[in-house]
Amino acid sequence: MTTALSILNRVFGYPAFRGRQAEIVAHVAGGGDALVLMPTGGGKSLCYQIPALLRVGTGVVVSPLIALMHDQVMALREVGVRAAYLNSALSATEANAVEREFIQGQLDMLYVAPERLVTARFMALLARAQVALFAIDEAHCVSQWGHDFRPEYIGLSVLHEQFPDVPRIALTATADAATRAEIISRLQLEDAQQFVSSFDRPNIRYQIVEKNDPRKQLLAFIQDEHPRDAGIVYCLSRRKVEETAEWLEKHGIRALAYHAGMDVDTRRQHQDTFLRDEGVVMVATIAFGMGIDKPDVRFVAHLDLPKSIEGYYQETGRAGRDGAPANAWMAYGLNDVVQQRRMIESGEAHAEFKRVAQTKLDALLTMCEAVRCRRVHLLTYFGEEAEPCGNCDVCLSPPATWDGTVAAQKALSTVYRTGGRFGSGHLIDVLLGRSTEKVQQWGHQSLSVFGVGQGVDETTWKGVLRQLMAHGYLSVDHDAFGALVLTEASRSVLKGETQVWMRKSSSIKPVKRGSSRP
Ligand code: ADP
Ligand code: ZN
Repeated sequence: MTTALSILNRVFGYPAFRGRQAEIVAHVAGGGDALVLMPTGGGKSLCYQIPALLRVGTGVVVSPLIALMHDQVMALREVGVRAAYLNSALSATEANAVEREFIQGQLDMLYVAPERLVTARFMALLARAQVALFAIDEAHCVSQWGHDFRPEYIGLSVLHEQFPDVPRIALTATADAATRAEIISRLQLEDAQQFVSSFDRPNIRYQIVEKNDPRKQLLAFIQDEHPRDAGIVYCLSRRKVEETAEWLEKHGIRALAYHAGMDVDTRRQHQDTFLRDEGVVMVATIAFGMGIDKPDVRFVAHLDLPKSIEGYYQETGRAGRDGAPANAWMAYGLNDVVQQRRMIESGEAHAEFKRVAQTKLDALLTMCEAVRCRRVHLLTYFGEEAEPCGNCDVCLSPPATWDGTVAAQKALSTVYRTGGRFGSGHLIDVLLGRSTEKVQQWGHQSLSVFGVGQGVDETTWKGVLRQLMAHGYLSVDHDAFGALVLTEASRSVLKGETQVWMRKSSSIKPVKRGSSRP
């Protein structure tokens, strides 16, 4: 008799199921709908691949990434599974051949791009073929507020309407409560059983350091903790990706660049090298990573702030999929906050979207500034309870805090007195009483706040402004380039009604390798 376990052993060559895989496979093979939340690397693919093999007909898998589809299909064919894909990479002749195999029942598994699935042509094919199940991979792409929103995913609700008897399994590694609710309602999965795995990745050490000389900090981090290890470095812009890769190369680190602006062949080649060779550092925008299955990525570094905790978690989750110790390292500073806030505000998006984006950013900033275990913070965000981990920067080197109320009042007054038209650089000049050309030009040397910040150094002032931004006591004026402005909340600080506790910058020491927990 063919059982799930025998398929796992014989076809995939693994001795046992992991986590909740066995339950999920049994549920879906038995015809039930499922929503699977499992962290990256948890083993989601087998949750639909095995039921597809157990059930009569073809398992239809919706997947957003063409490159990933190709890899999965090749891997399946290698173990003798009859798999194929339909996407824009195929010629019309090739696509026709796959379609024919599909309706003739010659496929165990068919991967389809979402935009193709919802076409009338494909719907007609589905009606003629025998479908074992629908798997909707990366299901969070249906969330309009998420960072991977794909409009075509909205159309996938048609599957349930047209084929109510075919079981559906939606899978994602990204799901705070709001995203989860959105997946359920948009894909009509109200009756699906939910399988939520723990999102803890105990082998990952989270570190968030204050940014002062980011490239040097990155180099030191790699040289100290990861010489000759494979890793991913995330940057926001394509130019920064290229510059950083070059710079690392110049300093003896084997680094490659990856972003959506590069030609397809070079991108493919860099990706292959990263996957195949040992010890390659991939410097990339977030265009790189979804579906990358490289178990021994030893670190993920962020030179720029992600947009949300979900993004941070997903990107850092690409480290240490093999379970061995790995590092998630991020350098974070005042400009990151200004940049992200400005990007949201100056975008074309709807006001409601901007509000959600700011809220998500706020949650991430709170984590960056928090004096609480990073892991507890992450897991709490995903609705799990946790104990301090003893393995993140906060646990290993608890940051000191100080009562920054007076400093906050000085900084906010300076913003107020200068009319809310200046960026952090000029504000700090005024606070420190520096008679720069700009100060002269605006007559700011005669303001009452001129020089009130003397006695506190520039780094600390940057930290103060950053934390005021992070906590919502300052925001960015999207019309004036990077100008910091007061918010509703600033008033209570200025009036002395609110106390502001801050992290001390000097307490952030690099965490050395060696005392790792797992
Ligand atoms: P996800 O899609 O959740 O990120 P994958 O399905 O790509 O994860 O699986 C991650 C890795 O774990 C893959 O290399 C996969 O072959 C491996 N894997 C999954 N399930 C098992 C298992 N039961 N035993 C051993 N390895 C597994
Ligand atoms: Zn911790």
